[in-house]
Amino acid sequence: MTADVLASIRDMLEHRADGLYGLHDVTQREHALQSAWLAERDGHPPALISAALMHDIGHLVHDLGDNPAEDGIDDRHEELGNAWLAKHFGPEVSEPVRLHVAAKRYLCATETDYFGKLSPDSVLSLSLQGGPMSAGEVAAFEALPHYAEAVQLRRYDDEAKVKDLTTPPVGHFMRYVGVCLRG
Ligand code: FE
Repeated sequence: MTADVLASIRDMLEHRADGLYGLHDVTQREHALQSAWLAERDGHPPALISAALMHDIGHLVHDLGDNPAEDGIDDRHEELGNAWLAKHFGPEVSEPVRLHVAAKRYLCATETDYFGKLSPDSVLSLSLQGGPMSAGEVAAFEALPHYAEAVQLRRYDDEAKVKDLTTPPVGHFMRYVGVCLRG
C-alpha cells in the first residue's frame, strides 16, 4: 500500500532520525531536510528532491551507531538505502542514492579542490570506500544513466551539515515523495 510506505518514510524521518549525522552537530533528520531543501531551492524535479531527502535512509534501517567509519566499518548505507528504495521507487530516485558514495570518489578524481573541502569523517570513510576513482572507473561512472543526479546529490550531501539551520519540516517534502512513489 502506497499510503503505508509514505507513512513509514515519514515516521522514519520524524521519529527515528534523532541520531547525529557522522561527526557533525546536525541530526540525521536535519541533514535529510537540509539536503532536500537545497534540491528544492535549485528547482530540481520531485525525484531528486526525494532522493536528497532519503539518501541516507540506509543509516536509519541499520543500527551501527552514528559514525561506523570511526570503527573502521564501511556501513555500505548507500546499498541498504537503494535496496529499500528500489522496492518502492523508480531508478530516478534509487539510483542517485545508490551512487552518492561513488560520486564522492568520482569528484575526488575529477575536481582538484574537492578533496580539500571534505569533512574529516568523509575523508575517513573515503579510504574505506576505495579512495578516488581510477580513470577507468570515472569513465564507467559517467556512462551510468543517473550519474549526474548522483553528483548533484553528493554536493547537497556535503553542504547539508549546517548547525541550527531552520528548514521546512518533513511533512513539507512528503508531497514530492508521494508523486514519485510507485503505485
Ligand atoms: Fe548524507
